[in-house]
Amino acid sequence: MAERPYIVGNWKMFGTRAMLSEARAIDRAAQRYMKVEVAVAPPYTLIHAVHREAEQIGVGAQDCHPGAEGPHTGDINAAMVADAGAKFVIVGHSERRQDHGETNELINAKIDSAIEAGLRVILCCGESLETRDAGDAEAFVLGQIKSALGSFEDPAERLTIAYEPIWAIGTGRTATSADIEAMHKAIRGLLDETYGAEASADVRILYGGSVKPENAKEILSLPEVGGALVGGASLSAESFLGIVVAA
Ligand code: PEP
Repeated sequence: MAERPYIVGNWKMFGTRAMLSEARAIDRAAQRYMKVEVAVAPPYTLIHAVHREAEQIGVGAQDCHPGAEGPHTGDINAAMVADAGAKFVIVGHSERRQDHGETNELINAKIDSAIEAGLRVILCCGESLETRDAGDAEAFVLGQIKSALGSFEDPAERLTIAYEPIWAIGTGRTATSADIEAMHKAIRGLLDETYGAEASADVRILYGGSVKPENAKEILSLPEVGGALVGGASLSAESFLGIVVAA
């Protein structure tokens, strides 16, 4: 397994320049926790500013358009976020799948464009409560990953998976340790099968869904949990750093 846990803050549609003080505080503290890889994905409008402030933490984008430059009003592509200082991009977040009808096919195209622009990718996957209650969670999540990854090459360098059950995002509910462990194990099995055990071993599988300082230690100590994708608790340096410390 990749050695350092990876803790990534997803700021979603929160944050104006006033948030730069939080980024500075996270960056300063991260310099004392070098055993943890720390990153944030601010809104597009703050990527460059956070990148300029950051000495230690990684900066990424929450999404990108899959195309080259062109007449797509309001869109921002992978090359643009890389130019602004992003080193990675989150793709396939359930809020984008829900709010913008993103399909696995579109997510696959975004991944290709991100790789082309030299970015690392955090691919999100996760089932609804309905799917889990129907007993289909594992097949659904593995299906999402298979079709979104398509012909992905070079996984060890470029790929992180984030398992985020939709019913645990922003709800205060976390999956049980047994649920998290079982799904992460199934995802690892798929990666082993697809890329071979050696390349798969360096792909971190993050958990996301109401991770906070109080539950981080237990979640992050589970087998195959290589870190966390954190939404709400990443908006204050204090709570985000509580998770970094727990890692
Ligand atoms: C997320 O949106 O990626 C997330 C995990 O959110 P929260 O931590 O708020 O559940």
